[in-house]
Amino acid sequence: MARIVMKFGGTSVADVERIKNVALRVKKAVDAGDQVAVTVSAMAGETNRLVALCDSVSELYDAREYDTVVSTGEQVTSGLLAMALQDLGVDARSWQGWQIPIHTDDAHGKARILGIDTDVVSQRLDQGQVVVCAGFQGLGSDNRVTTLGRGGSDTSAVALAAALGAERCDIYTDVDGIYTTDPRIVPHARKLSKITYEEMLEQASMGTKVLQTRSVEIAMKYHVRVQVLSSFSDTPGTLVCDEDEIVEKEVVSGIAYSRDEAKITLLSVADRPGVAAGVFGALADANINVDMIVQNVSADGTTADITFTLPRTDLPRALKVLEKGQEDIGYARLEADKNVVKISVIGVGMRSHAGVAQTMFRALSEKGINILTISTSEIKVSVLIAEEYMELAVRALHSAYGLDAQ
Ligand code: ADP
Ligand code: ASP
Ligand code: MG
Repeated sequence: MARIVMKFGGTSVADVERIKNVALRVKKAVDAGDQVAVTVSAMAGETNRLVALCDSVSELYDAREYDTVVSTGEQVTSGLLAMALQDLGVDARSWQGWQIPIHTDDAHGKARILGIDTDVVSQRLDQGQVVVCAGFQGLGSDNRVTTLGRGGSDTSAVALAAALGAERCDIYTDVDGIYTTDPRIVPHARKLSKITYEEMLEQASMGTKVLQTRSVEIAMKYHVRVQVLSSFSDTPGTLVCDEDEIVEKEVVSGIAYSRDEAKITLLSVADRPGVAAGVFGALADANINVDMIVQNVSADGTTADITFTLPRTDLPRALKVLEKGQEDIGYARLEADKNVVKISVIGVGMRSHAGVAQTMFRALSEKGINILTISTSEIKVSVLIAEEYMELAVRALHSAYGLDAQ
């Protein structure tokens, strides 16, 4: 008998028929003798609808009230799935984040899980009851409901698996695994049977939305075996695991892209100590995360241009902060561009292979695509390019690294 966590994403619980289908899958695991905790997302499109409602009421809304509104999608699906299971004769009960409880910090809208009290749900599992948890939700120290950021149900599921000591965490979604790139962009992308935690972490943080970044961090830290698979078929999925479980390591295992990017350039900034600290300190104080940074010094060495990227959604706030601080920071002009995307090639094999970046630059230049900014880590090379070339670039790189399915 194994204890497992099964997570079902928005498309898997998009309507009543699909919720009944999910119930059948859960029943199968119960019939096989497993102890099952389920984590559910809101119905597909529901969270977007709730976010739009908040936007339509208030321009700068209170994040606590945003959480009150957007957390409701998962409450509905957890109740419906518990009912569907009961209808099949399976003993099941729904649990909201505050009932378990899943403790988080108070960063409403993007809270981090601090700990989970598993005593009660663990007892229920031991009694053979299916525990149906609403994903995405937590309880802040202010005693209010929090949410974990978009895509946060993945994190709820993996954290629950870690806290319950589950044998594995199965993430059911609308694709049957993790592919070499988004199959919606490259239909002949290849499915990976395994991927390392590290590669998946880079993938997620570089924009691949199949798993939320924080869920991979938790899986890596607590060695949770995460499997990504389809709720619509029975084909084997992709296992996210330690590097030593993978025999044949690819130099490049995937291409990620992120549309959530914007670029700011500060022109003619004084070239003296403390200026970069002034710019990025002001942004950090406003809780804005900066990603790629490039600085060029002018020919006479007196001024510099600083270019950096940030989440597109944070651009209006960043502009406000920088324009307000123009005199203190001391720059002549500011340019902003939100029609940019980030493309990354990722693979643990890069550590021991030279020439990966060069292949990327050549493939892009052959398509006439200009690179605006570059950044690298041990297992990744990222470039920023104009948004209009995104699909072309992903396809060209997928071929250049020999990832296309035969
Ligand atoms: P869910 O609603 O189940 O959480 P998501 O939409 O968050 O599902 O994630 C699944 C989607 O991730 C897929 O439909 C796919 O288009 C996208 N995706 C992006 N990159 C990849 C990749 N490398 N492999 C698989 N899916 C990917
Ligand atoms: N429903 C939330 C969202 O759409 C959480 C999730 O689905 O993971 O972001
Ligand atoms: Mg998701």
